[in-house]
Amino acid sequence: MSPRKLQYYGSKVLRNSSRAVDIPSELEFLHSLLSDMLEILKYEKGLGLAAPQAGENVRLFVLNSDELNLSGHSIFINPEVTTSGSLDKDEEGCLSIPGIFEYVRRPLNVSVSACDLAGERFTLNLDDYSARAVQHENDHLDGILFVDRLSPLRKRLVKKQLSEIKREYGPHSRIL
Ligand SMILES: [Zn+2]
Repeated sequence: MSPRKLQYYGSKVLRNSSRAVDIPSELEFLHSLLSDMLEILKYEKGLGLAAPQAGENVRLFVLNSDELNLSGHSIFINPEVTTSGSLDKDEEGCLSIPGIFEYVRRPLNVSVSACDLAGERFTLNLDDYSARAVQHENDHLDGILFVDRLSPLRKRLVKKQLSEIKREYGPHSRIL
């Protein structure tokens, strides 16, 4: 099987809700998916990548632990995220939405519980950009993109760029 490819805005898989993964029985699939996801993340020099961005509607994401403060964790399988704290505004981008960077308002703190590849559940309490990255990736598992969280005005302002991305990278483009 050829390696999975990064999915761009306009790809239907980015809009689906993802299903939970069964770790012992799906280990082979998980290994192949994670290897492709880590490859894409490294190649694209991203902060994080969720499985739908690699074309698979399963609940898992990877984060760049060199750039974020995650106590060494980088693989989050079947994550459960609880947010708290005041709202904070910072700039976000997304590998699936190239060229668009916008400020997004999100809670400052998260508690994330997830499984690692061994099936062990761990919990991390995060703040600042690590908390933001977890929320951004977790949104992908519910078919939500960061541009959905912009104000109506900002949404109108990025609309044209979004349709250009869809045309350039989308399923009916000359590239794919
Ligand atoms: Zn993203």
